Amino acid sequence: MSTVFCAHVEELAEQIVQLQPKLAAHDSQALPANVATLIGWLDDRFLQMAIDAGARQIKVEDTIEECVLERAGYFESFAIDRLVQSSEGKLYPPAACYQCYPSLSQVEHAERGLWTCIAACGRKEEETGLGRLRNFHMREIVLVGSSNWVREERGRWMDKISEFARALGLRGELHSASDPFFGAGETRGRKLVQQLKELKFEMQVRIGRPVPGLAIASFNLHERFFAERFGLHLPGGADACTGCVAFGLERWALALVAELGPSRAFNLAEGILA
Ligand SMILES: [Zn+2]
Repeated sequence: MSTVFCAHVEELAEQIVQLQPKLAAHDSQALPANVATLIGWLDDRFLQMAIDAGARQIKVEDTIEECVLERAGYFESFAIDRLVQSSEGKLYPPAACYQCYPSLSQVEHAERGLWTCIAACGRKEEETGLGRLRNFHMREIVLVGSSNWVREERGRWMDKISEFARALGLRGELHSASDPFFGAGETRGRKLVQQLKELKFEMQVRIGRPVPGLAIASFNLHERFFAERFGLHLPGGADACTGCVAFGLERWALALVAELGPSRAFNLAEGILA
């Protein structure tokens, strides 16, 4: 088990009870522990896939320095009040990969490289409902290399994760989306350009009532956006590009419980394939 998840599991457990009201009656004690085990199991799977693909791990803090988000251009697109604060008044990152760029700015990059981290994240979601959590955990794989390689590698991850979701019994659909990283002003035209360039794909599942699909993973190209801000270069000084593959761990757990039912979902984590 790579990480112990204890904080924020309650919020997810409550949502699972909304999905499966019968669970509340006889399983309320075990539920948070089962949920935490499932999230940990999912993270282990993604971490193993990342390591198998050659990724190196980056250990990150639970909260992020405001100056890192500033440098990453976050406040060019978003107001600070969209972020969630810890009890000590520090900020949770809105996505895990923001935590990686300061480390990536301090290493020599090869022609291509994969990096991975898990981070506690926070977002004040505009939408409410199942899967819209203020605090959650995200595993990300950050790709650093040439523009072509990053795009190709992202494609390989889209195939790999589609296959993984299918094997678990999830019906995930890939959709092109507009990218939250860019776009001061977020004009319609600009969003359209992002979609045309296919900078972002989301894997969405449908759970519960007719809500729009819930994104459980995203596959993003950042072009030179972060590489310029954090001074990332390839050997010989060539421009680096980045991309990332992100997994919302609590949402995967929720999707599994919704799709398979709690017993089969929790048994996955126990190694019993029901
Ligand atoms: Zn990312």
